[in-house]
Amino acid sequence: MPKVQASVRRDHRGRLRGAGLRHTVPRERILAFLDRKNVHPTPEELYRGLRKKGYDIGLSTVYLNLQVLKQAGLVWDFKDPLGMTRYDGYTRPHHHLVCLACGRVEDILTDKLPELASEALAERVPAPEGWRVVGARVLFTGYCPRCSSGKKGASKPREKTPAR
Ligand SMILES: [Zn+2]
Ligand SMILES: [Zn+2]
Repeated sequence: MPKVQASVRRDHRGRLRGAGLRHTVPRERILAFLDRKNVHPTPEELYRGLRKKGYDIGLSTVYLNLQVLKQAGLVWDFKDPLGMTRYDGYTRPHHHLVCLACGRVEDILTDKLPELASEALAERVPAPEGWRVVGARVLFTGYCPRCSSGKKGASKPREKTPAR
């Protein structure tokens, strides 16, 4: 099991406390797993990932704690174009780029693109009367290098064509 160096470990205990949550080992492990770039597992993938790291956790514990962490705003979820709910705990401002064929998700950082930042989009969106828009999450879609080059191993597009 690869040890995380103390120097690079984020302050998950502090983040939990800051969100008004009790520190528990499952919560810390889940936060640590999700707090990296380009990591957007489904609950099952997260469960398998934690088990692979040698951590004995149950799938229902993963589900329950994801809900708690989501409600506290420490992680958020989104549906990918294939309809899978994926979780994200990466804290730098970003949007997502999803491959329509295989579902691979990449983070698109917006620190250097102020016009694409969540707050900037929220401010400029032509919102319906009476709405107070506070954020925006953009899902860019495309084909990853593997899928667009047609290399073997790439999966066929699974997305349904919307009915017209
Ligand atoms: Zn792909
Ligand atoms: Zn992300």
